[in-house]
Amino acid sequence: MTNPDRVSKTVRMNLEAWVNTVCAAWQATHHRLTGPRIRLLRHIANYTTPFSAEQLYADSHQDDMPPGRATVYRTLEQLHSAGWVARIHTTGTETGYIASWPGHLHHLVCTDCGSVITFEGCGLGDLLTNLSYQTSFAIEGHLLQIYGRCAECQEVGVSDSVR
Ligand SMILES: [Zn+2]
Ligand SMILES: [Zn+2]
Repeated sequence: MTNPDRVSKTVRMNLEAWVNTVCAAWQATHHRLTGPRIRLLRHIANYTTPFSAEQLYADSHQDDMPPGRATVYRTLEQLHSAGWVARIHTTGTETGYIASWPGHLHHLVCTDCGSVITFEGCGLGDLLTNLSYQTSFAIEGHLLQIYGRCAECQEVGVSDSVR
């Protein structure tokens, strides 16, 4: 990322590459690469909409040798703190997660189908600099999530109204 203020292209996730990259990062940081944890990664990579820890736990119980609830929660927390999953604000009560990767990323979330588009960087740099100057606030970070309707859901709406 050369210029974090520039809104760059939407980054589409290659899920197989995501699983391999996380495994490599885990190995590099001496995390244990157990079968259940790798299968958890595959489950996470397959979600196209935000999932909760409980949903992941339930879905992973379709596997042979499923991970325990503690492993699911701990793995999610590790992935989140390293930037491999992002928290998504959802209307439900449970925290939503989606596969992501480390860096300055934000998300567009469709309020109809729940699909998430990740993009890199944002244009808040000048605003934050000015805010910090005006308020003497030492800004450490920011949260930004965009919501609306994705291109596919808009098309569904158009074809419905034409009928
Ligand atoms: Zn949608
Ligand atoms: Zn930003």
